[in-house]
Amino acid sequence: MDKQKLKQCCLDESASLSEILTVLNAGVFGIALMVDQRGSLVGVFTDGDVRRAVMDGCTLQDDVKEHMNRDFTFAREADGHLAALALLGENKRHIPILDEQGRPVDMVSLTEIWKLSVAAPDLAGNEIKYVADCLATGWISSRGKYVHEFESKLSEYFFSPEPSAGQAEAGTLAVANGTCALQLAIAALQLGPGDEILVPNLTFGATANAVLHAGATPVYVDVEPDYWCIDPEAMKAAISPRTKAVIPVHIYGHPADMDAIMTIAKDHNLYVIEDCAEAIGAQVNGRQVGTIGDIGCFSFFANKIITTGEGGAVTSKDPDLLKRMQLLMSHGMDPTRRYWHLMPGFNFRMTNMQAAIGLAQMERIDDFLARRAHLAARYSKGLGDLDWIILPQKAPWADRVEWLYSIRLADHAPMTRDQLSAQLGSLNIETRDIFPPLNIQPAFGRTKEEQFPNASAIARTGLSLPTSVDMSDQMIDHVIASIRQIEEKRAVSKDMDKG
Ligand SMILES: *Cc1c(COP(=O)(O)O)cnc(C)c1O
Repeated sequence: MDKQKLKQCCLDESASLSEILTVLNAGVFGIALMVDQRGSLVGVFTDGDVRRAVMDGCTLQDDVKEHMNRDFTFAREADGHLAALALLGENKRHIPILDEQGRPVDMVSLTEIWKLSVAAPDLAGNEIKYVADCLATGWISSRGKYVHEFESKLSEYFFSPEPSAGQAEAGTLAVANGTCALQLAIAALQLGPGDEILVPNLTFGATANAVLHAGATPVYVDVEPDYWCIDPEAMKAAISPRTKAVIPVHIYGHPADMDAIMTIAKDHNLYVIEDCAEAIGAQVNGRQVGTIGDIGCFSFFANKIITTGEGGAVTSKDPDLLKRMQLLMSHGMDPTRRYWHLMPGFNFRMTNMQAAIGLAQMERIDDFLARRAHLAARYSKGLGDLDWIILPQKAPWADRVEWLYSIRLADHAPMTRDQLSAQLGSLNIETRDIFPPLNIQPAFGRTKEEQFPNASAIARTGLSLPTSVDMSDQMIDHVIASIRQIEEKRAVSKDMDKG
């Protein structure tokens, strides 16, 4: 921590109540450190201690020494920063770190922990080792063993343990990012100008960008209100004679209703491209997402469930499609004849270094998913009794995974989503609004929101809470407690307004 800030929190042990309040109100830490003449910490003041002093009749000019908390928790410098962090809790939001003479040298705060982003990757496995191997051996472009190993590992994960009939030819190709995966799928299916592709109105913009860059027309479809994925009924209604494909997005880790979607697609002769960017590992009636439609597209951006920094993959069970994608992603160049281009292609290849990270991540995917499931269950348990919060749902046919844990505020909530996110932000708890509907964005449309009531309502009221895979129970509880405190504070100020 910044020494200047630490100094601002330190006061002489005989400071007056007014001086203490000045420190607390400055809001740097919400704690005043009371030191003796040698600079050693003898006690602390928090808001609670000040309140007790005032109730005991102390005035602003009084020396309030006898009210200071001398039984405070502290960490020793020699034990290191992590030991100090481990002491933090809901009732111990600030822990001073003391040197051997008992002088404050640093401080850790729960709010400091929360400078962590809404989703931070865990790279603590073999990532460094494998990347170092790429660098040491010079295999840093898209050639090299890790690309193949990563692809095999993904295929094994998607199509194993025993590839059933029709899956023997299934495969996975690693690509530069999730958007490339979508573009590659659309190109391989030869979709372009004049073709309409159905896209859920609630998704990250890349889904529509990929369609637009192929020259095809995205047709937005509303989502269903509980699981937030494309609504099969609305999808059916949006089909025209020019509709060639649908891109169901398994949003925030919940799979789309693939059984219904596949039936409709079959009836209308539509290709199905699954956007699995946020849902690797999710299943529909026991089948992995990405293996159900014609092509599955994955993203391994840093905030996704597994990451390669930037990265993505396509899966398919169709060997012809796989072959076509292999060609297209590598300049359209004949693999057996250098500089001989069979079709106009792209360079969408993943580097060996990205794949090295991906392989290490895949070694731990089960652990990641289990930790995310635990985290979501803990949030849901901790927030479950608040009737103004709508928890993430799960369809009976779905095995969802947890990407960003996302809640909705009910209509009767005591505050708006924006008010809640601003308050959490002031506590250093980062949140994310749900994706705004595509149809109102400059790049994609600007039609009326009312055409898509569900996507609009979810986008207006939905909020993703911190869902980093390495969050401790204590950190999750801190978010839960903070949401409760925000609600209580609002209730109190409302009462005061009335009074
Ligand atoms: C992240 C994401 C993408 C794009 O992936 P990139 O790897 O960032 O290009 C596409 N669709 C959805 C739904 C996403 O969440």
